[in-house]
Amino acid sequence: MKLIYCAPNLLLVKHFQNLLEAHGIGCIVKNENLNSAAGELPPTECWPELWLTDEANYGEAAQLLFPSANEQIQPSWTCPRCDEWLEGQFNQCWNCGEYRIN
Ligand SMILES: [Zn+2]
Repeated sequence: MKLIYCAPNLLLVKHFQNLLEAHGIGCIVKNENLNSAAGELPPTECWPELWLTDEANYGEAAQLLFPSANEQIQPSWTCPRCDEWLEGQFNQCWNCGEYRIN
């Protein structure tokens, strides 16, 4: 299992799930129904998450979901606001919402 995408917008997460499944890449959505718990949990812990069932598909899945990052794999980065470590495909901090600067 490998997390490939996380966003507050469930429709977008489901769209990505459909896209991967259309290419035969197994994946599941977690936290689909956790929005009702918002307020009791930190908000980002309630965000829907898209997980690959087989992380060997990660490269192919990343190319499908993030074609603009295709030619050059983005380096991982550290959030300037909360110091969270983020993988290169994320342009926004899942923890505090800060955008990547570079
Ligand atoms: Zn952050």
